[in-house]
Amino acid sequence: MPTLFEKIIARQIPGDIVHQDDRVTAFRDIHPRAPVHILVVPNKPIPTANDIADSDEALIGHMFTVARDLAKREGIAESGYRLIINCNGDGGQEVYHLHVHLVGGAPLGPMISRA
Ligand code: AMP
Repeated sequence: MPTLFEKIIARQIPGDIVHQDDRVTAFRDIHPRAPVHILVVPNKPIPTANDIADSDEALIGHMFTVARDLAKREGIAESGYRLIINCNGDGGQEVYHLHVHLVGGAPLGPMISRA
């Protein structure tokens, strides 16, 4: 079964795609938590951070350079932003296709709420 994000990457279901190349696709989060909220996703379906292979190092690096370029293009590079990868249940992962959240455009507050 293709993941939800594979369907967006293949344009089988709608997505607000802001970048696509042969390795990575980026699209706006459907429930944005900040003025800018973009998901940077590898085109191949790696389920979680635990499943990143040593051979994926260049791909993972590319996800971050795409996120950096998108932050600049969205005008939040200087004001600041946060890159987040959630993993499994305690990490709050909802979609099991690896993705980096690029969030910014407003002060984001503490990284993790205090218990
Ligand atoms: P995570 O909790 O890290 O797995 O984040 C999954 C993210 O995917 C959430 O922020 C959702 O709002 C987002 N999301 C779910 N469905 C879609 C969709 N169809 N298009 C864009 N973003 C989505």
